[in-house]
Amino acid sequence: MKYLSQLNKKYLNGKTCLLRLDLNIQDDELKNSLRLKRASLTINFLLKNNVKVIILSHKGRPENVSNIEHQKSKLSLKDVSKALSDVVDKKIILFENFDFKKIKKAVNDSNDKVFMLENLRFNSGEENNSKNFAKGLSFLGDFYVNDAFAVSHRENASVCAITDFLPSYAGLELEMEIKAFEKVIKNPPKPLIIILGGAKISDKIGVIKKFYSKISWVLTGGGVANTFFAAKNIPVGKSLYDKNSLTIAKEWSKSKKIIFPQDVKIENGEILDIGKKTIENYSSIIKKAKTIIWNGPMGYIENEKYQNGTVSLARAIGKSRDFSIVGGGETTSLILKKHLEKNIKFLSIGGGAMLWYLSGKKMPGLEALDKNNF
Ligand code: ADP
Ligand code: MG
Repeated sequence: MKYLSQLNKKYLNGKTCLLRLDLNIQDDELKNSLRLKRASLTINFLLKNNVKVIILSHKGRPENVSNIEHQKSKLSLKDVSKALSDVVDKKIILFENFDFKKIKKAVNDSNDKVFMLENLRFNSGEENNSKNFAKGLSFLGDFYVNDAFAVSHRENASVCAITDFLPSYAGLELEMEIKAFEKVIKNPPKPLIIILGGAKISDKIGVIKKFYSKISWVLTGGGVANTFFAAKNIPVGKSLYDKNSLTIAKEWSKSKKIIFPQDVKIENGEILDIGKKTIENYSSIIKKAKTIIWNGPMGYIENEKYQNGTVSLARAIGKSRDFSIVGGGETTSLILKKHLEKNIKFLSIGGGAMLWYLSGKKMPGLEALDKNNF
């Protein structure tokens, strides 16, 4: 894989870059968004090297692309482009269609430096990994940079097919993500522990499997712990659990390495957070750990009453000096809201792709970068 960070000034000077970002950000997360801050690293690097930047991203999931008009306002990148413009302190021109000839001319003629195409998923070619659509995109730039780790497990035109047409590089954010993950995959300082919470267990079991021989403990909470409880026939009432994963949860629940909450916070028959004793126990295990991988909250954190478990563990991690990597949309967003990000060595913005990568599954977007040989 070739990295943008290794390209020299001479190569970059005067070129136009097609930069794939993941700007699929909820409106209420636009303020203080870590994704926008990370995106600004690569954008600023390119601007400093006199490169014009054309940003590519998607937003949400358009339902039927042939009938896109009524969904356009909801799924537009307009607000995102404004928020990003504030973060990088540069005007960003948003093109509302995919008329590549016109766009190319506008970019060439403009004195502005940063541009963005509208939600790529408005064109069916994006999710179909269409060579044609990718070729059209590639016409706009001299080289391509993937800085969207969070979509690199998807076979989409702006992530995969585009690398058939342009010299392709990993951006600064993508490089940070890969290096952090490789650090925990190859020779992590031990003891290594994994903390798993959140809603679905199916994506998370893959990580336990992959790391099993290296881990000392898996600390469970949230819907993940509830699923193990249900699999062990411990009544969970109306609590959130993953009904489709009971069989696999039952198999894994026998493992001595997997630790379950010893007390929980229950309201109206629902388990909503881990309890005080569990927090104490988990914190003391965290203190012993040298490497920590964490994905998914310990409770129903949308309600402040049930944030204690998640917040307490984030604090406990802060007291340990070794490597920690935390990911997952909801988990990272709470850590940022509570200003606990300094406690974590690396906060991943990879979302579901983090679990994908750590489970050892294929990442087509990264393979495409590896194969690129312009
Ligand atoms: P992340 O986005 O961090 O990867 P997930 O998407 O897997 O995490 O799950 C996050 C969701 O899980 C949150 O919306 C949170 O409210 C919910 N959740 C976790 N534990 C519970 C619980 N005990 N009861 C209800 N919801 C829970
Ligand atoms: Mg989530």
